[in-house]
Amino acid sequence: MKGRVFSGARPTARQHLGNYFGAIRNYVALQKDYECVYCVVDFHALTSMVDTTHLREYTFEMVLDWLAAGIDPQRSIVFVQSHVPQVLELATILGMVTPLGWLTRLPTFKDKVREQPDNVNYGLVGYPVLMAADILLYKADTVPVGDDQASHLEITREMVRRFNARYGEVFAEPQMKLTEAPRILGLDGSAKMSKSLGNTIELADSPEEIARKVMSAVTDPARQYRTDPGNPDVCNIFTLHKLISSDDDALEQIDRDCRSADIGCVEHKRMFAEELIEYLAPFRQIREQYASRPDAVWDILRDGAERARVIAAQTMEEVRQAVRLP
Ligand code: ATP
Ligand code: MG
Repeated sequence: MKGRVFSGARPTARQHLGNYFGAIRNYVALQKDYECVYCVVDFHALTSMVDTTHLREYTFEMVLDWLAAGIDPQRSIVFVQSHVPQVLELATILGMVTPLGWLTRLPTFKDKVREQPDNVNYGLVGYPVLMAADILLYKADTVPVGDDQASHLEITREMVRRFNARYGEVFAEPQMKLTEAPRILGLDGSAKMSKSLGNTIELADSPEEIARKVMSAVTDPARQYRTDPGNPDVCNIFTLHKLISSDDDALEQIDRDCRSADIGCVEHKRMFAEELIEYLAPFRQIREQYASRPDAVWDILRDGAERARVIAAQTMEEVRQAVRLP
């Protein structure tokens, strides 16, 4: 039997290079051998999004990104979290096997408290419980995510052990699946590329926007003058360049020329921007095709929710019996 994959992302903006190289690339590749379930986690977005005016638009835009990147809605289930409300039922039950201390000591929780001190809501504390419910409702064994999600996956596994010990073997411990680039840095070259930090290059950015953002990016921070030798090992642009290029000879040449100060950062950024624009051209093209048929995209999500509901109903039947809910 095929294994099952689950992953999700918050509809807080369009997807960026970090999402792509850290997660979406695996979403696409895993479709070959797994039954895949990909979810727009709108409830999770509400933990930090106060103004929901754009929630529907961001949901649509994110799904466009996924489809354009190669997620096949015939093969995989693509749906919106809130369209299958059983996840809330499972989250409630999982909450009972989750000591509060596990949640409040998580570094991801502490980061959020720092980011939004005036909005430390109950949902924010429960974020990992809802995430575990997502994964377990669909009985996924494999979860493709970036490495910022490692602690959430670990806590999911602990919840499985607790749940099974208390109520009997219902769930298996899911495994995290990283890409070879599990943590992409942002344009600042130091923090994780992240929607909430605004240091991203979005997959759907226009060529002009890509060029503008690349030219503003931080390279080797120690290289101040054009004549200084550069160090590609610590240059985020070089790291990104290696991800989009398969021309090893050209990359080696850039590496040498940078170290000897034969090319400067501006020159290298120009080359990289040009290649990135070209690399994303097919993506932009497919995305436009889907964008011109919004009804078809919402139909994909409706169909995805129907298929997801079938799995969710089976799991909840089993959970209710195990917990002995009357
Ligand atoms: P937000 O700031 O709203 O949390 P985000 O940019 O962190 O947004 P998410 O929607 O939280 O994006 O993440 C979606 C997926 O992309 C997750 O699997 C996450 O681990 C992965 N991911 C996000 N940022 C990066 C990154 N910089 N490098 C690698 N993977 C990433
Ligand atoms: Mg995030």
